[in-house]
Amino acid sequence: MIKLQNVEKVYRTSAIETLALNNINLHVRKGEFVSIMGPSGCGKSTLLNIMGLLDAPSQGQVEIDGSRVERYTDKELASMRNQKLGFIFQSFHLINDLSVMDNVEIPLLYRSGSAAERRRLSQEALEKVGLSNRMKHFPKQLSGGQKQRVAIARAIVGKPEIILADEPTGNLDSAMGNEILSILQNLNQEGSTIVMVTHDDAMAKKTHRLVRLFDGTQVS
Ligand code: ADP
Ligand code: ADP
Repeated sequence: MIKLQNVEKVYRTSAIETLALNNINLHVRKGEFVSIMGPSGCGKSTLLNIMGLLDAPSQGQVEIDGSRVERYTDKELASMRNQKLGFIFQSFHLINDLSVMDNVEIPLLYRSGSAAERRRLSQEALEKVGLSNRMKHFPKQLSGGQKQRVAIARAIVGKPEIILADEPTGNLDSAMGNEILSILQNLNQEGSTIVMVTHDDAMAKKTHRLVRLFDGTQVS
């Protein structure tokens, strides 16, 4: 579902070069739930951003669902992101002056479909995360765990095949973190392929496979 071959990422800022990823070869299969761990600065976010087509590698190939993307235009990349990928971030990234429901509908604004259809899909997504009773609330009226559930609903509303989560439980206490993990596990059982960056060993153990990075290199 996601295939990285000989992926290298170099960041160049004025005189400084950082090798953020060094020859990564990684194949995430359809239906897998993979976690990525490693110390701060080892390249986890860079790896996730490359898998999510938010950033391009300096060298190597990226394949999403059988398509090699290196020749894609920005427009084609954006379209693929919108169709196939859902993103979840540590800090939720909700828009504070939109209601829960309007936040969840955002990815659908880039697709065709009526307002009624958007509403139906966002209700369905909010039901999956157990928040259908908070549709008209605003983010500031929600707990951290509830905000992350809204963010998950937004990530899944367009029915992407792949979910990329960058420390989705990093800002939550362990009870709320476990709730978020079990929602992700349910989505995985329903067929979503998931890649999750985490600092939590116990959470990583509950996924199918752990990829460890150290200094830009995959060490397991
Ligand atoms: P992690 O997510 O594991 O903390 P990152 O992927 O954020 O690691 O960063 C990997 C390395 O690349 C670090 O040394 C970081 O300082 C560097 N880096 C990340 N983003 C940039 C950038 N936009 N410009 C320059 N260097 C960067
Ligand atoms: P942090 O780990 O510092 O909390 P985030 O998880 O918020 O960082 O974001 C991870 C990466 O995704 C960053 O490189 C950021 O630039 C990028 N990013 C954050 N929000 C969005 C967004 N809405 N769309 C695209 N990229 C984003």
